[in-house]
Amino acid sequence: MLTINETRLLSDLAALAEIGRTEDGGVSRLALSSADEAGRWWFQAQVIAAGLEFRQDGAGNLSAVLPAADPQAQTLLIGSHLDTVLNGGRFDGALGVLAALEVARTLAEAGAALPFHLEVISFTDEEGAVVGLLGSQAVAGQLTYAHLANPRGGAAALEDGMARLGLTPDTILAARRDPVLLAGYVELHIEQGTRLEEAHLDIGVVTGIVGIRSAWLQFQGQAAHAGTMPMLERADALWGAAEFVQRARSLVIDRFSPGVMNCGRLDLAPGSFNIVPAEVKLALEFRHGTEGQLDEMAAALFSLAEEVAQANNLSVTIEETSGCTAAPAAETVVRAIETAADRLGLSHTRLMSFAGHDTQSMAAITPSAMIFVPSVNGVSHSPQEFSEDRDVINGANVLLQTVLALA
Ligand SMILES: [Zn+2]
Repeated sequence: MLTINETRLLSDLAALAEIGRTEDGGVSRLALSSADEAGRWWFQAQVIAAGLEFRQDGAGNLSAVLPAADPQAQTLLIGSHLDTVLNGGRFDGALGVLAALEVARTLAEAGAALPFHLEVISFTDEEGAVVGLLGSQAVAGQLTYAHLANPRGGAAALEDGMARLGLTPDTILAARRDPVLLAGYVELHIEQGTRLEEAHLDIGVVTGIVGIRSAWLQFQGQAAHAGTMPMLERADALWGAAEFVQRARSLVIDRFSPGVMNCGRLDLAPGSFNIVPAEVKLALEFRHGTEGQLDEMAAALFSLAEEVAQANNLSVTIEETSGCTAAPAAETVVRAIETAADRLGLSHTRLMSFAGHDTQSMAAITPSAMIFVPSVNGVSHSPQEFSEDRDVINGANVLLQTVLALA
């Protein structure tokens, strides 16, 4: 069976980790920074040395292409991102790009004849130092001038970064790809959690990336003297909000597992030792794998809020805010990954990703799925982020066999 060159992949990972290396062994290669630029030059050199065709699109996405014999063939994309968070780890993103590069090199050396162009891709700004999922959203046609006008990293960071890489808003939006020309997208990534490690499994087959919904819940009661108002006559907004938080937790565990919910903020008014809270504004966020499940969760959580408000002599208003659409993986690609893991004799399980990835952009335009490998202690976005060599190699071989299974 064809397998990747383990030594070459591990030495690539070590070499890339030197670019933007921090004092405590982490990596800072923020998107569009000078360290990111250095990483891009390094990657380009590896691609050229491998005899693959190097490309950069208008969004700064970098590619290494192994062409099919038929120029009219579709393109299978494999990759991830080279940028990191501030003082992040050596594996998040880098593993997916370098394993994809190693897969293309292995197939080129083997003289494999594929029915599609194989394109290794490193997407710009996955982590969101500037926009977040910038490169993959551009490719998927999900980016607009409005996104670029108000980037989360600030307009100056985007301006400077675009100047450094020779990009403009026009070139970024022109990076959009025609879905008809794509055969799919596969991304290898570290799990960034402990599910695989705890279950002693080799490979996670990602069935989708969760969607996120959020809402402000405002419980309204009546301010009163904290001493003289009898307990049974109070309309204490915090009593309602507290009951909601506890019951929402049980509701989600009992009915919506593996969905999750979080109450990340409570604003109390008037907010004093000696006044019964009249008003509580609560930030609610919840995540699940499909829009259908999110709809059911929203209905259950919001009706719980109404029920709790009534029982506590309160009223409640619910204001839904921006969220993020769930991105289910394509069953064809999920099966190809399972076939690949079986061929290699690796144990695997299906799971959902509760973190965002470039795959969520790509899943909207082409059949996509992800391969997860274990993260030691689930640590990520930290210098302590680590995956064992064995898991790195397993993941790359599963990616290789997935490409062959899809061929
Ligand atoms: Zn990542």
